Amino acid sequence: MRSWTVNPSNIEVAGLENHSLRIFDSKTQRINLIPKQAEPIQIYVCGITPYDSAHLGHAFTYLAFDLMIRAMRVTKQNVNYVQNVTDIDDPLFERSRKTDKKWTSIVDDQLEIYRKDMQALNIMAPDHFVGVVENIDTINDEIEKTIKRKLTYQLGTKWYFQTRKDNKSLLVKDVKDHELITLANERGCDTDTPGKLNAIDPIVWKESKEDEPSWNREFGTGRPGWHIQCISLANKYAKLPLHIQGGGKDLIFPHHAMCEEQAIALGLGDLATNYCHVGMVSYQGSKMSKSKGNLVFVHELINKGISPMVIRTCLMLNHWQNDWEFQEVDIIKAEKLLEKINTNLTGKFFSRNEFDFILESMLNNIQTPKILEFLSQLDPDKNDERSIPTDTVLSALLGLDLESV
Ligand SMILES: [Zn+2]
Repeated sequence: MRSWTVNPSNIEVAGLENHSLRIFDSKTQRINLIPKQAEPIQIYVCGITPYDSAHLGHAFTYLAFDLMIRAMRVTKQNVNYVQNVTDIDDPLFERSRKTDKKWTSIVDDQLEIYRKDMQALNIMAPDHFVGVVENIDTINDEIEKTIKRKLTYQLGTKWYFQTRKDNKSLLVKDVKDHELITLANERGCDTDTPGKLNAIDPIVWKESKEDEPSWNREFGTGRPGWHIQCISLANKYAKLPLHIQGGGKDLIFPHHAMCEEQAIALGLGDLATNYCHVGMVSYQGSKMSKSKGNLVFVHELINKGISPMVIRTCLMLNHWQNDWEFQEVDIIKAEKLLEKINTNLTGKFFSRNEFDFILESMLNNIQTPKILEFLSQLDPDKNDERSIPTDTVLSALLGLDLESV
């Protein structure tokens, strides 16, 4: 599907190609090196279900991968970045019923807003921005394989993937079984359906309701489940294993653990060598969620006249792994900080030491709060040898376009 365009500048500094990104992996619980390679680094980020607009939590997630990709590009590492759109999913059809609006119109409208939000926030566009509907044959072929290889079982008009109770993903190794069931339940899995072999077994295929899109296959007339969509799209648009599979922390289970297990069962091997899970953003005391109605939408902030660069700075004041609570005062704090950076640094130059500090802070697990603090303290008129343009560095590495502030 149509993506958006962000063109980051290039930094001309000797030796950049000798550096590599290190990033925290949720599976091994440590910071891992993403080794340099001639082929592009493969990144798959689980995208939106386009039934509502992007809120600050979404922006924080996609910003994290934007920053990782910027760090890799600056160090001359090419990237193949895939982001999907879950344009077949229960919440979308529920929204369609509630609003009496065709689900396809909801998708079109929300994607238009999403693209505008991402572009405004200067968030790197994926190389492949891919939807379920446009790839339905690929996904359904993968489901057929799953069924033919007897990795599934049928209950009524639903096909379930049979998870292995004795083979718990390292992503959830410390989580107790009853907690997994609660999590799965909260996130759309029908854990109490009678006859299921394991309560957390996910749906790979189910019959569509009358007003939902539906496809005819040998194994039934219906539509695909969630996890198999991402496996099929990752396999089609990226080279497996992915170097990074990413998303918000709420995707660790069931989504990413289930993707991992199904991919192995399908013979695709480990889906990813690193899993990056971005912290959750809360507001008014709880995680931003549709059900609680405590959402702060990106486009609403922009419509209020808040500069997208201020919103971006506000998000970067938090480390990508951390959960944090948004407060209106954060915008004012970001505004002041950005103004200071703009006044002090626009049209100036970094010394090599200053640049190295910024680059190293990015490459060592994307420490944006540390960089912003450093920038706010800088005195670029100090009598050091200065040759690296500040505007180019801030734009290329942090996505901060000072002129537009
Ligand atoms: Zn996904």
